[in-house]
Amino acid sequence: MAYSKPARTTRRRTRVRRIRVAGLLVVLAAIATAFGYQLLASTSSTAASAIDVLRDEHRGLRSEHRGALGEADGAVPDGTTVFDDEIPGVANLDPDLLGALRQAATDAAHDGVEFFVDSGWRSPEYQDRLLHEAISEYGSEEEAARWVATAETSAHVSGDAVDIERSNATAWLSEHGAWYGLCQIYGNEPWHFELRPEAIDVGCPPMYADPTHDPRMQ
Ligand SMILES: [Zn+2]
Repeated sequence: MAYSKPARTTRRRTRVRRIRVAGLLVVLAAIATAFGYQLLASTSSTAASAIDVLRDEHRGLRSEHRGALGEADGAVPDGTTVFDDEIPGVANLDPDLLGALRQAATDAAHDGVEFFVDSGWRSPEYQDRLLHEAISEYGSEEEAARWVATAETSAHVSGDAVDIERSNATAWLSEHGAWYGLCQIYGNEPWHFELRPEAIDVGCPPMYADPTHDPRMQ
């Protein structure tokens, strides 16, 4: 797979920026953890907002990688839709998944809802980077595994998963996605959708709490 390596100066600048962002992420993680503990005794809806904090952090991590690896590895520019054929992160998705997404997005547009892609297909290199960043961020492989798969197991690397920007689009998909075979797979990732064609007849399968419960991840 061909992807162009960034120039030396760019790489150095990126590294400095990454260190700064990494520091910020540590602070965010500490806040999120403290927040999480505080809320543990509270309700499950507040626990969901702790997940949102972690998710935003995860997203920051992804955008940070845009500069390092680029669109050819699956980094997706802001505002990318499921119709953007020129973006490899979209174009390299499984054709059936992409077809279902486009059909759903077309129907959602009638409801005034637009789908934006946070992440789709990713190269193994891109997935490796995400995993290594997650391990240093979360402090252990076990915790990182709740959020980021390996290049060997990731459904993003095989082109079988898409992350939709959280908005009324993810709400629309959780209500109507099964009609198109588009299902949320993990309870902790309301943005991550995969194609389950049988869902059109019988509805989406029960979700795994997080990817560590998914036999495909073992
Ligand atoms: Zn995903």
